[in-house]
Amino acid sequence: MKLLVTRQLTPAVEAKAAAEFDVTFRNGAVPMTEEEAHAALQGYDALLVTLGDKVTAQALQGDLRARIVSNFGVGYNHIDAAAAKARGIVVTNTPGAVTDATADVAMTLLLMSARRAGAGERYVRSGAWTGWTPTQFLGQHVTGKTVGIIGLGRIGAAIARRCHFGFGMQVLYYNRSAKEAGFPARQVTLDALLAASDFVVVAVPAAPETHHLIGAAEFARMQAHAHFINIARGDIVDEPALIATLEAGRIAGAGLDVFEKEPFVPEALRRLENVTLLPHLGTAALEVRDAMGFMALDNLIAFRDGQMPPNAI
Ligand code: NAP
Repeated sequence: MKLLVTRQLTPAVEAKAAAEFDVTFRNGAVPMTEEEAHAALQGYDALLVTLGDKVTAQALQGDLRARIVSNFGVGYNHIDAAAAKARGIVVTNTPGAVTDATADVAMTLLLMSARRAGAGERYVRSGAWTGWTPTQFLGQHVTGKTVGIIGLGRIGAAIARRCHFGFGMQVLYYNRSAKEAGFPARQVTLDALLAASDFVVVAVPAAPETHHLIGAAEFARMQAHAHFINIARGDIVDEPALIATLEAGRIAGAGLDVFEKEPFVPEALRRLENVTLLPHLGTAALEVRDAMGFMALDNLIAFRDGQMPPNAI
Protein backbone atom coordinates (compact mmCIF):
# COMPACT_ATOMS: atom_id res chain seq x y z
CA MET A 1 0.00 0.00 0.00
CA LYS A 2 1.42 3.37 -1.06
CA LEU A 3 1.26 5.74 1.93
CA LEU A 4 1.93 9.47 2.17
CA VAL A 5 2.82 10.80 5.64
CA THR A 6 2.20 14.53 5.43
CA ARG A 7 4.22 15.85 8.41
CA GLN A 8 7.34 14.83 10.30
CA LEU A 9 6.45 12.33 13.06
CA THR A 10 8.56 10.89 15.89
CA PRO A 11 11.49 8.60 14.86
CA ALA A 12 9.80 5.47 16.28
CA VAL A 13 6.59 6.13 14.34
CA GLU A 14 8.41 6.92 11.09
CA ALA A 15 10.46 3.70 11.47
CA LYS A 16 7.27 1.64 11.89
CA ALA A 17 5.60 3.39 8.93
CA ALA A 18 8.65 2.57 6.77
CA ALA A 19 8.62 -1.07 7.94
CA GLU A 20 4.90 -1.55 7.18
CA PHE A 21 4.26 0.48 4.02
CA ASP A 22 5.70 1.79 0.78
CA VAL A 23 5.91 5.20 2.41
CA THR A 24 6.71 8.71 1.23
CA PHE A 25 7.49 11.28 3.91
CA ARG A 26 6.40 14.76 2.81
CA ASN A 27 7.97 16.22 5.97
CA GLY A 28 6.43 19.64 5.36
CA ALA A 29 6.18 21.93 8.37
CA VAL A 30 3.20 23.61 6.70
CA PRO A 31 -0.15 21.81 6.25
CA MET A 32 -1.21 20.56 2.80
CA THR A 33 -3.24 22.99 0.73
CA GLU A 34 -6.48 21.81 -0.86
CA GLU A 35 -4.63 21.33 -4.19
CA GLU A 36 -1.86 19.30 -2.55
CA ALA A 37 -4.40 17.19 -0.69
CA HIS A 38 -6.23 16.53 -3.97
CA ALA A 39 -2.98 15.46 -5.69
CA ALA A 40 -2.12 13.23 -2.70
CA LEU A 41 -5.56 11.59 -2.82
CA GLN A 42 -4.94 10.88 -6.52
CA GLY A 43 -1.42 9.53 -6.06
CA TYR A 44 -1.56 7.37 -2.91
CA ASP A 45 -3.65 4.50 -1.51
CA ALA A 46 -3.50 5.95 1.98
CA LEU A 47 -2.76 9.29 3.64
CA LEU A 48 -1.58 9.87 7.20
CA VAL A 49 -2.61 13.49 7.74
CA THR A 50 -2.86 15.88 10.66
CA LEU A 51 -4.01 19.31 11.89
CA GLY A 52 -4.62 21.78 9.07
CA ASP A 53 -4.14 19.40 6.10
CA LYS A 54 -7.04 20.51 3.91
CA VAL A 55 -8.85 17.28 3.03
CA THR A 56 -11.90 19.27 1.97
CA ALA A 57 -14.92 18.34 -0.17
CA GLN A 58 -13.14 20.09 -3.07
CA ALA A 59 -9.96 18.04 -2.53
CA LEU A 60 -12.09 14.88 -2.49
CA GLN A 61 -13.57 15.44 -5.98
CA GLY A 62 -12.63 13.64 -9.19
CA ASP A 63 -10.76 10.38 -9.78
CA LEU A 64 -9.08 9.32 -6.55
CA ARG A 65 -6.75 6.44 -5.70
CA ALA A 66 -6.92 6.85 -1.90
CA ARG A 67 -9.14 4.50 0.11
CA ILE A 68 -8.24 5.62 3.62
CA VAL A 69 -7.27 8.86 5.39
CA SER A 70 -5.78 8.22 8.82
CA ASN A 71 -5.72 11.32 11.00
CA PHE A 72 -2.97 11.85 13.58
CA GLY A 73 -5.04 13.52 16.33
CA VAL A 74 -8.56 13.29 17.69
CA GLY A 75 -9.92 16.54 16.19
CA TYR A 76 -10.57 16.16 12.46
CA ASN A 77 -12.31 19.39 11.49
CA HIS A 78 -9.73 19.81 8.67
CA ILE A 79 -11.21 16.69 6.98
CA ASP A 80 -14.64 16.68 5.36
CA ALA A 81 -15.51 13.28 6.81
CA ALA A 82 -18.99 13.25 5.23
CA ALA A 83 -17.57 13.96 1.75
CA ALA A 84 -14.93 11.24 2.26
CA LYS A 85 -17.58 8.74 3.31
CA ALA A 86 -19.66 9.60 0.24
CA ARG A 87 -16.58 8.72 -1.87
CA GLY A 88 -16.14 5.41 0.00
CA ILE A 89 -12.98 6.64 1.72
CA VAL A 90 -12.50 5.53 5.33
CA VAL A 91 -11.44 8.23 7.82
CA THR A 92 -9.89 7.35 11.19
CA ASN A 93 -8.53 9.31 14.17
CA THR A 94 -6.62 8.72 17.43
CA PRO A 95 -9.01 9.20 20.38
CA GLY A 96 -7.88 8.37 23.91
CA ALA A 97 -4.13 8.73 23.23
CA VAL A 98 -4.48 12.50 23.60
CA THR A 99 -6.84 12.73 26.57
CA ASP A 100 -4.64 13.08 29.67
CA ALA A 101 -1.98 15.21 27.99
CA THR A 102 -4.57 17.69 26.73
CA ALA A 103 -6.33 17.80 30.11
CA ASP A 104 -2.94 18.56 31.68
CA VAL A 105 -2.48 21.53 29.36
CA ALA A 106 -5.99 22.76 30.27
CA MET A 107 -4.92 22.69 33.93
CA THR A 108 -1.62 24.41 33.06
CA LEU A 109 -3.55 27.25 31.42
CA LEU A 110 -6.15 27.39 34.19
CA LEU A 111 -3.46 27.67 36.86
CA MET A 112 -1.30 30.07 34.84
CA SER A 113 -4.26 32.35 34.13
CA ALA A 114 -5.59 32.26 37.72
CA ARG A 115 -2.17 32.88 39.28
CA ARG A 116 -0.89 35.30 36.63
CA ALA A 117 2.10 33.06 35.98
CA GLY A 118 2.76 34.33 32.43
CA ALA A 119 2.86 37.97 33.53
CA GLY A 120 4.97 37.06 36.56
CA GLU A 121 7.43 35.10 34.44
CA ARG A 122 7.78 38.00 31.99
CA TYR A 123 8.33 40.35 34.96
CA VAL A 124 11.20 38.27 36.39
CA ARG A 125 12.80 37.92 32.94
CA SER A 126 12.61 41.68 32.39
CA GLY A 127 14.85 42.24 35.43
CA ALA A 128 12.22 44.58 36.94
CA TRP A 129 11.49 42.44 40.03
CA THR A 130 12.78 44.11 43.19
CA GLY A 131 11.49 41.57 45.73
CA TRP A 132 8.47 39.86 47.30
CA THR A 133 5.65 42.00 48.66
CA PRO A 134 2.34 40.92 50.19
CA THR A 135 0.28 42.58 47.45
CA GLN A 136 2.25 41.76 44.32
CA PHE A 137 0.68 39.85 41.40
CA LEU A 138 -2.43 38.87 43.32
CA GLY A 139 -4.34 36.30 41.32
CA GLN A 140 -7.29 34.06 42.02
CA HIS A 141 -7.22 31.07 44.39
CA VAL A 142 -8.19 27.89 42.51
CA THR A 143 -8.91 25.34 45.26
CA GLY A 144 -12.62 24.96 46.01
CA LYS A 145 -13.81 27.15 43.13
CA THR A 146 -16.34 26.26 40.42
CA VAL A 147 -15.25 25.05 37.00
CA GLY A 148 -17.67 24.95 34.07
CA ILE A 149 -16.68 22.55 31.32
CA ILE A 150 -18.18 22.92 27.86
CA GLY A 151 -18.12 19.41 26.35
CA LEU A 152 -17.78 16.60 28.90
CA GLY A 153 -16.26 14.05 26.51
CA ARG A 154 -12.98 12.23 27.03
CA ILE A 155 -10.88 15.38 27.54
CA GLY A 156 -13.60 17.36 29.34
CA ALA A 157 -14.09 14.48 31.80
CA ALA A 158 -10.33 14.22 32.38
CA ILE A 159 -10.27 17.97 33.17
CA ALA A 160 -13.26 17.52 35.49
CA ARG A 161 -11.46 14.67 37.33
CA ARG A 162 -8.39 16.83 37.86
CA CYS A 163 -10.52 19.75 39.09
CA HIS A 164 -12.63 17.58 41.44
CA PHE A 165 -10.00 15.27 42.92
CA GLY A 166 -6.98 17.57 42.67
CA PHE A 167 -8.45 20.94 43.57
CA GLY A 168 -11.72 20.19 45.39
CA MET A 169 -13.66 22.18 42.80
CA GLN A 170 -17.37 22.02 42.02
CA VAL A 171 -17.89 20.79 38.48
CA LEU A 172 -20.60 22.08 36.18
CA TYR A 173 -20.84 20.94 32.59
CA TYR A 174 -22.68 21.74 29.39
CA ASN A 175 -23.02 18.83 26.95
CA ARG A 176 -25.58 17.72 24.39
CA SER A 177 -26.13 14.39 26.19
CA ALA A 178 -26.10 13.61 29.92
CA LYS A 179 -22.84 12.12 31.25
CA GLU A 180 -21.98 9.92 34.22
CA ALA A 181 -18.70 11.32 35.57
CA GLY A 182 -18.44 8.94 38.55
CA PHE A 183 -18.14 11.92 40.92
CA PRO A 184 -20.36 14.96 41.48
CA ALA A 185 -20.70 16.90 38.21
CA ARG A 186 -23.88 18.82 37.41
CA GLN A 187 -25.25 19.27 33.90
CA VAL A 188 -26.54 22.82 33.33
CA THR A 189 -27.46 25.08 30.42
CA LEU A 190 -24.68 27.04 28.74
CA ASP A 191 -26.03 30.30 30.17
CA ALA A 192 -26.12 28.89 33.71
CA LEU A 193 -22.58 27.55 33.33
CA LEU A 194 -21.23 30.89 32.11
CA ALA A 195 -22.90 32.79 34.95
CA ALA A 196 -21.88 30.44 37.76
CA SER A 197 -18.31 29.41 36.87
CA ASP A 198 -15.07 30.88 38.17
CA PHE A 199 -13.31 29.03 35.35
CA VAL A 200 -14.91 28.25 31.99
CA VAL A 201 -13.12 25.57 29.94
CA VAL A 202 -13.95 24.74 26.30
CA ALA A 203 -13.50 21.04 25.42
CA VAL A 204 -16.09 20.52 22.68
CA PRO A 205 -15.09 19.53 19.10
CA ALA A 206 -15.05 22.06 16.24
CA ALA A 207 -18.09 21.46 14.02
CA PRO A 208 -20.62 23.67 12.24
CA GLU A 209 -22.84 23.50 15.39
CA THR A 210 -20.02 24.70 17.68
CA HIS A 211 -18.63 27.44 15.39
CA HIS A 212 -18.53 30.66 17.48
CA LEU A 213 -20.43 28.90 20.26
CA ILE A 214 -18.74 31.43 22.54
CA GLY A 215 -19.05 35.07 21.45
CA ALA A 216 -19.76 38.53 22.85
CA ALA A 217 -23.09 37.51 24.43
CA GLU A 218 -21.50 34.51 26.17
CA PHE A 219 -18.52 36.52 27.47
CA ALA A 220 -20.99 39.11 28.79
CA ARG A 221 -22.60 36.40 30.92
CA MET A 222 -19.32 35.47 32.64
CA GLN A 223 -18.42 36.88 36.03
CA ALA A 224 -15.86 39.72 36.15
CA HIS A 225 -13.40 37.63 38.17
CA ALA A 226 -13.74 34.55 35.92
CA HIS A 227 -11.15 33.05 33.59
CA PHE A 228 -11.77 31.54 30.14
CA ILE A 229 -9.73 28.57 28.91
CA ASN A 230 -9.80 27.04 25.41
CA ILE A 231 -7.91 23.82 24.62
CA ALA A 232 -10.33 22.59 21.93
CA ARG A 233 -10.28 24.54 18.65
CA GLY A 234 -9.94 28.25 17.92
CA ASP A 235 -13.02 28.74 15.78
CA ILE A 236 -15.36 27.65 18.58
CA VAL A 237 -14.65 31.11 19.98
CA ASP A 238 -15.29 34.48 18.33
CA GLU A 239 -11.71 35.70 18.81
CA PRO A 240 -12.35 39.43 18.23
CA ALA A 241 -15.11 39.25 20.87
CA LEU A 242 -12.67 37.61 23.30
CA ILE A 243 -10.06 40.28 22.60
CA ALA A 244 -12.62 43.06 23.20
CA THR A 245 -13.68 41.37 26.47
CA LEU A 246 -10.07 41.10 27.68
CA GLU A 247 -9.17 44.63 26.55
CA ALA A 248 -12.12 45.99 28.53
CA GLY A 249 -11.11 43.91 31.57
CA ARG A 250 -14.62 42.40 31.52
CA ILE A 251 -13.23 39.04 32.70
CA ALA A 252 -10.06 38.41 34.70
CA GLY A 253 -8.12 36.48 32.10
CA ALA A 254 -7.90 33.80 29.45
CA GLY A 255 -5.67 30.85 28.64
CA LEU A 256 -5.52 29.71 25.03
CA ASP A 257 -3.85 26.70 23.42
CA VAL A 258 -5.69 27.18 20.10
CA PHE A 259 -6.53 30.16 17.88
CA GLU A 260 -9.14 31.02 15.30
CA LYS A 261 -6.71 31.41 12.37
CA GLU A 262 -3.88 29.30 13.72
CA PRO A 263 -0.90 29.87 13.62
CA PHE A 264 -1.84 33.55 13.23
CA VAL A 265 -2.25 35.10 16.66
CA PRO A 266 -3.52 38.69 16.48
CA GLU A 267 -1.16 41.41 17.72
CA ALA A 268 -4.03 42.69 19.92
CA LEU A 269 -4.01 39.34 21.76
CA ARG A 270 -0.22 39.18 22.03
CA ARG A 271 -0.15 42.67 23.56
CA LEU A 272 -2.47 41.76 26.44
CA GLU A 273 -1.04 40.87 29.87
CA ASN A 274 -4.21 39.09 31.01
CA VAL A 275 -3.98 36.23 28.51
CA THR A 276 -1.75 33.16 28.51
CA LEU A 277 -0.86 31.94 25.02
CA LEU A 278 0.48 28.48 24.16
CA PRO A 279 1.39 27.18 20.67
CA HIS A 280 -1.13 24.29 20.55
CA LEU A 281 0.82 22.19 23.07
CA GLY A 282 -2.09 19.92 24.07
CA THR A 283 -0.48 16.62 23.06
CA ALA A 284 3.15 17.78 22.82
CA ALA A 285 4.92 15.06 24.81
CA LEU A 286 7.09 12.40 23.17
CA GLU A 287 5.23 9.38 24.62
CA VAL A 288 1.92 10.89 23.59
CA ARG A 289 3.05 11.68 20.03
CA ASP A 290 4.46 8.12 19.78
CA ALA A 291 1.13 6.69 20.99
CA MET A 292 -0.83 8.86 18.53
CA GLY A 293 1.43 7.81 15.66
CA PHE A 294 1.20 4.10 16.48
CA MET A 295 -2.58 4.41 16.73
CA ALA A 296 -2.76 6.16 13.33
CA LEU A 297 -0.60 3.34 11.87
CA ASP A 298 -2.68 0.62 13.55
CA ASN A 299 -5.74 2.02 11.77
CA LEU A 300 -3.90 1.81 8.44
CA ILE A 301 -2.55 -1.68 9.14
CA ALA A 302 -6.02 -3.00 10.03
CA PHE A 303 -7.42 -1.51 6.82
CA ARG A 304 -4.56 -2.97 4.73
CA ASP A 305 -5.21 -6.39 6.30
CA GLY A 306 -8.89 -6.26 5.40
CA GLN A 307 -10.16 -5.55 8.92
CA MET A 308 -12.27 -2.69 10.22
CA PRO A 309 -9.86 0.00 11.50
CA PRO A 310 -10.34 0.32 15.30
CA ASN A 311 -10.93 4.08 15.15
CA ALA A 312 -13.04 4.64 12.05
CA ILE A 313 -15.06 7.85 12.29
P1 NAP B 1 -15.06 13.66 22.60
O1 NAP B 1 -14.71 12.56 23.54
O2 NAP B 1 -15.75 13.35 21.33
O3 NAP B 1 -15.88 14.74 23.45
C1 NAP B 1 -16.58 15.79 22.89
C2 NAP B 1 -17.75 16.13 23.79
O4 NAP B 1 -18.39 17.30 23.29
C3 NAP B 1 -18.79 15.03 23.86
O5 NAP B 1 -19.15 14.83 25.21
C4 NAP B 1 -19.93 15.58 23.02
O6 NAP B 1 -21.21 15.18 23.48
C5 NAP B 1 -19.78 17.06 23.25
N1 NAP B 1 -20.39 17.82 22.16
C6 NAP B 1 -20.14 17.69 20.84
N2 NAP B 1 -20.85 18.59 20.13
C7 NAP B 1 -21.56 19.29 21.02
C8 NAP B 1 -22.49 20.35 20.91
N3 NAP B 1 -22.83 20.86 19.73
N4 NAP B 1 -23.04 20.84 22.07
C9 NAP B 1 -22.70 20.32 23.26
N5 NAP B 1 -21.84 19.32 23.43
C10 NAP B 1 -21.27 18.80 22.33
O7 NAP B 1 -13.73 14.45 22.16
P2 NAP B 1 -12.38 14.65 23.01
O8 NAP B 1 -11.46 13.50 22.77
O9 NAP B 1 -12.74 15.01 24.42
O10 NAP B 1 -11.76 15.90 22.24
C11 NAP B 1 -12.45 17.15 22.21
C12 NAP B 1 -11.76 18.10 21.25
O11 NAP B 1 -10.54 18.55 21.82
C13 NAP B 1 -11.32 17.49 19.92
O12 NAP B 1 -12.38 17.46 18.98
C14 NAP B 1 -10.19 18.39 19.48
O13 NAP B 1 -10.64 19.40 18.62
C15 NAP B 1 -9.70 19.03 20.78
N6 NAP B 1 -8.32 18.63 21.10
C16 NAP B 1 -7.36 19.61 21.24
C17 NAP B 1 -6.06 19.25 21.53
C18 NAP B 1 -4.97 20.26 21.69
O14 NAP B 1 -3.83 19.95 21.38
N7 NAP B 1 -5.24 21.45 22.20
C19 NAP B 1 -5.71 17.90 21.68
C20 NAP B 1 -6.72 16.94 21.54
C21 NAP B 1 -8.02 17.31 21.23
P3 NAP B 1 -21.86 13.73 23.19
O15 NAP B 1 -21.16 12.78 24.14
O16 NAP B 1 -23.27 13.93 23.50
O17 NAP B 1 -21.53 13.41 21.75
